[in-house]
Amino acid sequence: MTNYQHRSSISILLIDDDEEDFLITRDIIADFPSGAYTLAWEPDFEKAKVKILQNEHEAYLVDFRLGAESGLDLISYSLERGIMGPFILLTGQGDLQIDEEARRLGAVDYMVKGSINPDQLERSIRYGIQHVLNLNEIKELNQQLERRVMERTRDLARANERLSYSNESLQKEVDERKQAEKALRESQKIYSAIASNFPDGMLCVLDKDLRFLLVDGKAEEPEMRNKQEWIGSYASSMTFIDQKEAFIKNLKKVLKGVPLNMEVTVANGEREYQINAVPLFDDEEKIQNLLIVCKNITERKKAEKEVLRALNQEKELNELKSRFVTTASHEFRTPLSTILSSVSLIGRYISDSDQKEKIDKHVHRIKSSVNNLTYILNDFLSLGKLEEGKTTFNPVSFDLEQMISEVVSQISPTLKEDQDILLSIAEGTFGEIYVDEQMTKNILINLLNNASKYSGERQKIHLGLGRENGLLKITVKDEGIGIPKKDQQHLFDRFFRANNAINIQGTGLGLNIVKKYIELMNGHIEFSSEENKGTEFRVAIPITQPSYD
Ligand code: ATP
Ligand code: MG
Repeated sequence: MTNYQHRSSISILLIDDDEEDFLITRDIIADFPSGAYTLAWEPDFEKAKVKILQNEHEAYLVDFRLGAESGLDLISYSLERGIMGPFILLTGQGDLQIDEEARRLGAVDYMVKGSINPDQLERSIRYGIQHVLNLNEIKELNQQLERRVMERTRDLARANERLSYSNESLQKEVDERKQAEKALRESQKIYSAIASNFPDGMLCVLDKDLRFLLVDGKAEEPEMRNKQEWIGSYASSMTFIDQKEAFIKNLKKVLKGVPLNMEVTVANGEREYQINAVPLFDDEEKIQNLLIVCKNITERKKAEKEVLRALNQEKELNELKSRFVTTASHEFRTPLSTILSSVSLIGRYISDSDQKEKIDKHVHRIKSSVNNLTYILNDFLSLGKLEEGKTTFNPVSFDLEQMISEVVSQISPTLKEDQDILLSIAEGTFGEIYVDEQMTKNILINLLNNASKYSGERQKIHLGLGRENGLLKITVKDEGIGIPKKDQQHLFDRFFRANNAINIQGTGLGLNIVKKYIELMNGHIEFSSEENKGTEFRVAIPITQPSYD
């Protein structure tokens, strides 16, 4: 609707079935002071409806009584279709009760026919028009507002959509995080279970920034006692580790895939830990965390140190003993040989004595005792040298036949009554041989000496010699007391003596020395024995190629 002030005249439609009323109203309007109003007339109710819908008038004066119809119905019909009027209801005298009804429906004013005054009607029309303009403006504003609200609602809906999308991704992230946390909690549970059953140890899981995710375990390192407090702390806070810098450096290497295995001390060496660390991988095989296993090894280390200390002490004592034995044996040999030569001389000086036979017997006894003592001392000396590493394998070319006859003649005086050495030598055994002569000789003397010592009178000793596949083979067999089964495993141990040999003189050193010599020559020794039947020792010594440089 346009503003009525800009139009040349204001068109008013009177809807009234009484022509008389039209004429009167027209006169009233003609009396309006501004004079800018025209009045049209419509007496028919239905036609009025059509005209109102065409909306060609600025204001409507509606009679209450329109034949059988009511002006009020027309007003509500129009208002329902969006035509705001303004409608001014005209009634006859005595229709006062409809005033309220008219206003309720939306008529702007109400006037009683016959008492209408021009000023009042004009004011009412003007007010009505302005009112409708205002209403339309408000309607327009309302529509604008509604549009804006709609736009805003749409924006909001879009924003909401975006929000719900980001919410979704946020939710997804949260879900993933929750899942990761759940997995971590699960593995933490496993680690905790392991840790609490892991004696003297601690289990820690660290993230890539070397921050604790889990600390657990039975070992209660005082600084780590409050395990929960360590969650989130950096490994570099472990200032109580004496080798902290190396430890951190190694942990960083674990992040590159190098497993860690190191021992550290804490609290200035008060306690010791064995630390193992490995990387933990995520689903994409990327290093995600570190697993550290710390084991308190303080006690073990103490025990190790104690054992080492005892071992060293034992070693020192042993060295001291063997040095003493060596020195003493060496020193004993000189006076012994003096005794031996003096006894021989004395024997010769008193050869014409009538007590010669008795003297000879004692001289012989002294000589054999001195020889025995010399044997023992030689054994001690050999052992001392062997232990000090002074005995070295020194092969030379020598005449085997010559050496054997020397050995036999050296042993013969000590043999018991009718204890013959029966030699059997394989063909091709003699000739140039290249082994350590002194060691071979000592081995033979020791074995023959045992064979004689542990056999009775008239029991034979069999000495066999042969050469086979680059080996010098020696067998010494007797028919003596044999070695009890249970003692056989210790036979080569130092100072070991079998049960059945206790009453026979000996120190238990001979076979130990034999074994050591054979080992030095890369040879081999074995035996078989049966108690009261006899014993056989079999030795194989590699014959070395001579070197002529
Ligand atoms: P020694 O140091 O003077 O040789 P030993 O003869 O007692 O003293 P080994 O030669 O090392 O020491 O022998 C160790 C032990 O083995 C002997 O004490 C003996 O019990 C047993 N044994 C060695 N050879 C024989 C053998 N031929 N027959 C029976 N027992 C033997
Ligand atoms: Mg012996």
